[in-house]
Amino acid sequence: MLKYFTYDEYVDNIFEIDLEKLQAAGKRLIFTDLDNTLVGSDVPVPTPEVLAWLAQAKALGFVVKIASNNNDERVRIFAEDLDIEAHGLVYKPLIYKMKRYMKGYQKGEVVFVGDQLLTDVAVARRLGLYTILVRPVKLKADENITKFNRKIERRIVKGLKKRGLPVPPHIEVS
Ligand SMILES: [Mg+2]
Repeated sequence: MLKYFTYDEYVDNIFEIDLEKLQAAGKRLIFTDLDNTLVGSDVPVPTPEVLAWLAQAKALGFVVKIASNNNDERVRIFAEDLDIEAHGLVYKPLIYKMKRYMKGYQKGEVVFVGDQLLTDVAVARRLGLYTILVRPVKLKADENITKFNRKIERRIVKGLKKRGLPVPPHIEVS
């Protein structure tokens, strides 16, 4: 069970991700969560930094797709001027929609970037994808469901810690 909450890399923000390294490792598709991964959940549109990051990924040959559990309206407005595929209501950690979105790619070519163990890391692990956990951009703007998830997260992290597995530095447990 806990293996679904382990990740390959932890970064403080998306800009720390070594895109060249991923490219050299044969990765071609990057799925990214939206809320608290690309921007805070109360930020409606991409920041200039996020736009630059997406452009850099594209220049390196990556296809980037947004995979969010938030509603379609949120995702549509955020991605309106981006030339990328963006999906809302993905229902992570369920895998059925993700499987559709990664059609044409081998799982070894796919990276998943997200800020939550329960949704992002779990769906990525279930699909066998290279998993990058990012420190949440901004916690206080979390939706209620996310607050609940983070409570569960802390319990999971306690379990990880007990077994000597890597623990996300932003989640404090006793
Ligand atoms: Mg998120």
